[in-house]
Amino acid sequence: MALSNRLTLTLATAALLSACTTVAAPHGVSAETWAIHQRLMTLDTHLDTPAFFDTVRGYDIMERHDVERDGSQVDYPRMVEGGLDGGFWVIYMGQGPLTPEGYRNVRDAALLRAVAIHKMVAANPDEFEIALNAADAARINATGKKIVYLSIENSYELGEDLSLLDTFYKLGVRMAGPVHNGSNQLADSTNPGPNPPVNWGGLSPMGKDYVRRANELGIILDGSHASDAAIEQMIDLSATPIILSHHGADHLNEHPRNAPDALLKKLAMRGGVIHMNALGSFIKPLPQTKERTDAMTALRTKWGNPNTLESARYEQYLDELGALNKQFPENRATFEDYMQQVLYTIKLVGVDHVGFGADWDGGGGLDGFRDITALPKITERLLKEGYTEADLAKMWGGNVVRLLKAAEDYKAGLGK
Ligand SMILES: [Zn+2]
Repeated sequence: MALSNRLTLTLATAALLSACTTVAAPHGVSAETWAIHQRLMTLDTHLDTPAFFDTVRGYDIMERHDVERDGSQVDYPRMVEGGLDGGFWVIYMGQGPLTPEGYRNVRDAALLRAVAIHKMVAANPDEFEIALNAADAARINATGKKIVYLSIENSYELGEDLSLLDTFYKLGVRMAGPVHNGSNQLADSTNPGPNPPVNWGGLSPMGKDYVRRANELGIILDGSHASDAAIEQMIDLSATPIILSHHGADHLNEHPRNAPDALLKKLAMRGGVIHMNALGSFIKPLPQTKERTDAMTALRTKWGNPNTLESARYEQYLDELGALNKQFPENRATFEDYMQQVLYTIKLVGVDHVGFGADWDGGGGLDGFRDITALPKITERLLKEGYTEADLAKMWGGNVVRLLKAAEDYKAGLGK
């Protein structure tokens, strides 16, 4: 390559880098808010985006997607635009039958999902890095790369073999929740079907062993999707503080996926943290018109699971979904509804016990808060309420890193 060409390329790279550091403030937030937001280390504790990684189409994390077109909410360009530094990238598996065959199938899918997260990072080594301990968050953040912790949502895939939790730990998992929709071999769910008559009154005997093993490994326990009784038992049994990684508060909208005040206070008293979910129906009742419900049912019947559609058919599906949304708009909660939940919860338990886990790519997203580019609005709203940059640093990442450090320290103290 000629020197002049090299120089041109170097200049182009420099221009690109400086463009990256001067990303415009999004969503009309002030320059001052944007500067503070960018100084903070921001972690979301529940990024469901990896569910797209091993679909037939795959998902290019480096491409900027449009939430209004495909509903996706997280990719690298939007992490830059919204000032999101990373988070816990989820290995999610839907609940299936509690049978040897069911366990075997889901185990393999979950292991492959973990591999898919590693492959995403390996393909983009200048943009992302796997984080394995509490100190990694600040270290990776200082390099400008995005932070990738791994977490498990629904430990159904462990089957009846707890040693698989060790395997997932070795694959990088540092946060894990026992259950999703459907009570399973480990715990009761907030949404007990489809596996009746499982009813443990909280954690199963294996679920209690799971808590102990997670502690021994230095994994943060996540109570989101577990029943209130199971959450309370996790708080009582766990040697280190637990998290509710994407959760709400009952006070403003009683809902199974929200926790009552007494439970949140107990969580906080034991050092735990609730990360606030932005899934509309947890925030307020959102009745939809019959026309919309019927049209959505027809669309789903026609296309099946969109994750199984090849690209051309997927685009056709998106065309039809877009037309449907235009004809029968969705009744959505608003960003301000979300902030009322957030502000209530901060007042209840304090800034040391609240964070953000908006359920991006897992059902989260509101009017005025459709994807991660809107995250600086949280910073702006909390500054307006009088919270300081130090308060925000705790809620945006400091609290969950503290939990990870506690989990690590407990493990180290065991000398195992
Ligand atoms: Zn969830």
